[in-house]
Amino acid sequence: MIMVAIADYNVKEKSQWCPGCGNFAIVGALKGALADLGIAQHDAVIVSGIGCSSKLPHYVNTYGFESLHGRGLPVASGIKLANDRLTVVDVGGDGDGYGIGSGHFLHIMRRNYDLTYIVHDNQIYGLTTGQASPTSQLGMKTKTTPHGVVEMPFNPLSTAINGGATFVARVFAGDIAHMKDVFKQAITHKGFALVDVFQPCVTFNKLNTYDFFTKRVYKLDAEGHDPGDRMKALEKAYEQVKTNYERLPVGVFYKEERPTYESTLPQIKDKALAEQPLNAIDISAAYADME
Ligand code: SF4
Ligand code: MG
Repeated sequence: MIMVAIADYNVKEKSQWCPGCGNFAIVGALKGALADLGIAQHDAVIVSGIGCSSKLPHYVNTYGFESLHGRGLPVASGIKLANDRLTVVDVGGDGDGYGIGSGHFLHIMRRNYDLTYIVHDNQIYGLTTGQASPTSQLGMKTKTTPHGVVEMPFNPLSTAINGGATFVARVFAGDIAHMKDVFKQAITHKGFALVDVFQPCVTFNKLNTYDFFTKRVYKLDAEGHDPGDRMKALEKAYEQVKTNYERLPVGVFYKEERPTYESTLPQIKDKALAEQPLNAIDISAAYADME
């Protein structure tokens, strides 16, 4: 492990986020987690889609890739295949990942790439100024739902547990120490790790505020929750629905060990693809096929 300080991940670029946005705590916790784990800047890649949260790669001094709306995960998996020795973290929002990107979300999980996926779940579309998102609460009034949301919210945690993610967690952006600890567990986990973050959007979501979460979140650890128990994890994932958002557990819901997608590929067993010589590859047969 090398010594890295949080300041090593700082950048000069000024953030475009609104003052008080939960995204500031998330980027701080992520930098803290990378520093604590001794991950050098050149060994980490932060990928994103499009949205307020997806500006995050600009604010951390590692490699970064801001991709297209909902397309962070396919880019992250491609990077992982090209160089599986890198630490790859994908970040995005609830609209980005659970809306337009939901197809990628499902299929990446069942493959179990060794990736960390952090979703800034503010239950609204922030960058486009306040429309209902897949996780907006029932009854919530927004620009696109002036009489209140009538659709059942998407449940990222139960979807991830059923979809094949091998590490499923949720944290609250109002508790940086806990968030950093869970990010570290997610990054060191060998397999696909989802961390859904309750991230207050102070500008457009006046329902799910810091105060709202502070009154309702509680830590699974305090209840002695066993993350190896899939049925119990599912029960906890539905608690917010059952209690109409009155009790919101945070922490590690579910964890299992399963071979990663990359570990099943003999081509990269001994050497990352990026380190293999290109001059020995003969693709003339493939050309001939296409003629
Ligand atoms: Fe944060 Fe909301 Fe402002 Fe976007 S619009 S930067 S999510 S407070
Ligand atoms: Mg959002």
